[in-house]
Amino acid sequence: MSLGWIGLGHMGVPMALRLRRAGYSINVYNRTAEKTAPLVTEGAVKLATPRAVVEQSDIIFIMLADGPAVTAILEQEDGLLSGTLSDKLIVNLSTVSPEQSLEYARHVEQAGGTYLEAPVSGSVGVAEAGQLVLLLGGDEKAIAVCRPYFEVLGKESIHFGAHGNGSSAKLAINLLLALVGEGVAETLLLGEQSGLDKDKLLQLIGASGMNTPLFQGKQDMYRQENFPTAFPLRLMAKDLGLITEAATRLTLDLPLAKTAHTHYQQALKDGHGDADMAAIYLSLKNITP
Ligand code: NAP
Repeated sequence: MSLGWIGLGHMGVPMALRLRRAGYSINVYNRTAEKTAPLVTEGAVKLATPRAVVEQSDIIFIMLADGPAVTAILEQEDGLLSGTLSDKLIVNLSTVSPEQSLEYARHVEQAGGTYLEAPVSGSVGVAEAGQLVLLLGGDEKAIAVCRPYFEVLGKESIHFGAHGNGSSAKLAINLLLALVGEGVAETLLLGEQSGLDKDKLLQLIGASGMNTPLFQGKQDMYRQENFPTAFPLRLMAKDLGLITEAATRLTLDLPLAKTAHTHYQQALKDGHGDADMAAIYLSLKNITP
């Protein structure tokens, strides 16, 4: 099987590198062509268009920012849908809404291909370590074909059922992520404004029942008030938009999701969009970049 990879951002690079280092040949494309360099250095083949990737690969993984990016890669003039997709498997790892995922599945299948959604839980360090959790929606047969690759990328795959369900699972877990991010930020602010030492507060969270691998990974960011990007805040804000849309569609009242959506949008306006999502702390503290 020849592999294709489209989308070499924060997540795409470490994930594609793991497949390459596991010995798979891999054809890569990224809109900003220079970002293919880390892959090409390790023997991946750089191609000029998504269409070329689909022509030269059997399984094409896509890891893109959002729905509009996936739509562009599918529908642009030299996009994935511009040729035949018969016998091709498109694996969408990007976080999109369940409705968008269903639409992509329809388009890929109309073009003769197979579509699998596989958004991931876990950030850059977790991706480097091959410890992601893949949230699958789609056909068992397609999952079986991808199993060896998923084992290189992640520690666990959970099959939630039909197309759309993997995306619903991703939105659910990212709601918890957004709330934990906001919770840690507000906890620190309350403690600091009460006159407590920040290092001791960080020590307290780390020693408490609310310690998490997420907190462990990000605690130095709060300590130094410097937020180098693992999960860009702009993508957390995008996901909260999808989460509030899902809640509206389901006529669900999710008050914390609404509040978090407002706060992460404010953090975007404050100029923290390209920082890590934990920079919600700076926005709540009224610190602008
Ligand atoms: P990222 O660093 O922003 O990379 C986004 C990728 O999408 C880049 O390759 C970018 O190309 C491409 N792209 C954006 N708009 C495009 C367009 N209109 N046409 C073609 N390509 C376009 O994002 P990321 O952090 O890797 O995240 C990728 C996906 O995984 C997102 O859906 C995110 O929500 C999800 N996710 C992220 C994390 C994380 O911790 N970062 C964790 C789990 C899931 P250029 O290089 O040309 O801009």
